[in-house]
Amino acid sequence: MLSDDDLERFARQVIMPAFGEDSQETLLASHVAVIGAGGLGAPLIQYLAAAGVGQLTIIDDDAVDRSNLNRQVIHATDAIGTAKAASASAAVSALNPGVAVNAITARVDEDNIAELIGDAPVIADCSDTPRTRHAVNQAAHQLGRVMVFGGAVRMEGQISSFNSGRDNASPCFNCIFPAAAGHDLAPRCSEAGILGPITGTIGTLMALEVLRHCLKPAEPVGKDLVGRLLLYDGMLTEVTEIRIRKRADCPVCNGASGGNPG
Ligand SMILES: [Zn+2]
Repeated sequence: MLSDDDLERFARQVIMPAFGEDSQETLLASHVAVIGAGGLGAPLIQYLAAAGVGQLTIIDDDAVDRSNLNRQVIHATDAIGTAKAASASAAVSALNPGVAVNAITARVDEDNIAELIGDAPVIADCSDTPRTRHAVNQAAHQLGRVMVFGGAVRMEGQISSFNSGRDNASPCFNCIFPAAAGHDLAPRCSEAGILGPITGTIGTLMALEVLRHCLKPAEPVGKDLVGRLLLYDGMLTEVTEIRIRKRADCPVCNGASGGNPG
């Protein structure tokens, strides 16, 4: 049963015919792990908190820098120098005190990720380094969690989600972006630049995708992006969809023991 406060707070989504009180109760009982409280994490965390996701684990090893503020809109000027996980947690509590937030200042890697994400069934990868992304993918596959992936640089972004740990026929992140292919060479925002609404767009699409996975097996907010990669071109305001397939030689999701993506 939703409380009177919750019925009022979430009234505009609960009244959507396909959504209803059942979906809201599901969200309130949901746990999402967010890797990175930066440009993608900022809108994602705020929309998940606003929508009433009951538990958020926010993991980031960085501190707020003045140069972050053109896009990382969850952090305010007076948070400069403080840990991003704590700054994001404070913003969540101000927005929706009903969310249980676990703020962790740590860098996610292959060895610590399983412990850091806890029992969260959905992991939102808002990181900006290939090594972290592959660690998220490996854990998501091995532990049977969903990975919602987004990336943005300059005026372009991309988004998909991966469910290879639960659905053996579907691809994983490494099927599309093999670690062996040297994606470490891709430019990062710190070198290539980024405009705030681009991370805002992709992070917001990721939030919607996370909500879809939290609400499964029902689909009150539409079909997920498993097996599809969306490319967003902010210069032309165009979206392209690419069908993605599992790779027969993927060392993560097709190896006998999961393998090591490197
Ligand atoms: Zn794979």
